[in-house]
Amino acid sequence: MKEFLNFINGEYVRNASGKIFENRNPVDNSLIGNVFEAGQAEVDAAVVAARAALKGDWGRLAIGERVKLLDAVANEINRRFDDFLQAEIADTGKPYDLASHVDIPRGAANFQVFADTIKSMSTESFNMRTPDGKTALSYGVRVPRGVIAVVCPWNLPLLLMTWKVGPALACGNTVVVKPSEDTPATATLLGEVMNAVGMPKGVYNVVHGFGPGSAGEFLTKHPGVNGITFTGETRTGTAIMQAAAVGVRPVSMELGGKNAAIVFADCDFQTAVDTVTRSCFENAGQVCLGTERVYVERPIFDKFVAALKVKAETMKPGLPFEKDTKIGPVISKEHQKKVLSYYQKAKDQGATVVTGGGVPEMPEALKDGCWVQPTIWTGLPETAAVVTDEIFGPCCHISPFDTEEEVLAKVNNNPYGLATSVYSQDIGRANRMAQSIEVGLCWINSWFLRDLRTSFGGSKQSGIGREGGVHSFEFYTDLRNVMVKF
Ligand code: NAD
Repeated sequence: MKEFLNFINGEYVRNASGKIFENRNPVDNSLIGNVFEAGQAEVDAAVVAARAALKGDWGRLAIGERVKLLDAVANEINRRFDDFLQAEIADTGKPYDLASHVDIPRGAANFQVFADTIKSMSTESFNMRTPDGKTALSYGVRVPRGVIAVVCPWNLPLLLMTWKVGPALACGNTVVVKPSEDTPATATLLGEVMNAVGMPKGVYNVVHGFGPGSAGEFLTKHPGVNGITFTGETRTGTAIMQAAAVGVRPVSMELGGKNAAIVFADCDFQTAVDTVTRSCFENAGQVCLGTERVYVERPIFDKFVAALKVKAETMKPGLPFEKDTKIGPVISKEHQKKVLSYYQKAKDQGATVVTGGGVPEMPEALKDGCWVQPTIWTGLPETAAVVTDEIFGPCCHISPFDTEEEVLAKVNNNPYGLATSVYSQDIGRANRMAQSIEVGLCWINSWFLRDLRTSFGGSKQSGIGREGGVHSFEFYTDLRNVMVKF
């Protein structure tokens, strides 16, 4: 059985309290190992180590040396690709194909991309004449913000954690990471990588635990933390912002969504069906950018619903390493219960269940896993729970629409504003829509296609700030202005 220890000041440590919690594999609910929950003492030690590293070797490194270390981290993740893959798959139950093409390569790329981006980071400078006839030059300097708390969710554990740790370290900060209690493995393993490449002690720290009354709360309330970057539910984001208000610490928030897809009758039908299938069901619907509301122009509504049903029914659930597995379980028993409660609500509110709606028939050995069926509903009003609330499961509701104005109003009538995709061959119309939808990310005839140099983040209750490319540097550095008179 495995043990997941905290990683503080370059060393794996247990805890003073002796508190442990279980890490279970969602495919069959089997025990992977025990996690050592960090208490106030471990969080204090991690923050102290992170602060000391800022003042020590790490803080003295030139950008070129930092970049070399980040490149080495990326290379070491790739060298230990299989270890990361096994760890991520055991924690999440996601199919091999997905973890090996998305989670782990992007985990490594997040260090490489930000190492590249930091090399060419520039700041503004202005020359001006002073009232006494002399010259003044002002220029910006970006300095690290300090100790960054990184609080992560469970849906893409390594990918989303490194999406923050990569730029934070590139900018010269140090980090204390609080991975999700459901997925402690890859953050723990990354400690070995840091030591292997010679990362100075205290630059990367990991504290395990939950939110309230545990490591998450202790870390985000810690006065030694200079900034908090968080990905997770909007409700949790609210609690973290309250914690950050004490000491006026800046936050970067990547929060929930209730993303729509808009399918016009003039779309490339097969592209739309294939892409919406992915956006609804990939990673068992547990992608923040995933689609849970689909709006289809009336002339192709019936044909589209029928085609998506066929696709949903090909999403074979199964073990991650089996070749024909298309969908894994959801993350936990608790999340399975939440998703199934929405499946029940849809029935209670009178939905037509086009496909799914329950738990799939699984072989005896997997019966205790956290399985749910890919599910499609039609026939519900815009006020129904499954049309308004984020479910974070493999499901969608499909509604017909007649005009651009109507669909735009429906898509925007939601407190979230993370992502939307528009399918149309009329590129003018698609762009018109993209500019009117209240979201941080809009795809046209595609989904989850990312260039890591571009901005990423949500509007409305889906987030605060943007990460990605140079935008990450806005959060991970403090911009200082220097004015010199000569
Ligand atoms: P969550 O908010 O329940 O938990 C996220 C993290 O916050 C966990 O590590 C948890 O332990 C910690 N936490 C919980 N309460 C806390 C508190 N009071 N103080 C400090 N830390 C606390 O989210 P989740 O269930 O892990 O992830 C799913 C959610 O994440 C969905 O809402 C999804 O949309 C969102 N998400 C958003 C993005 C994005 O980029 N916008 C990406 C992925 C996931």
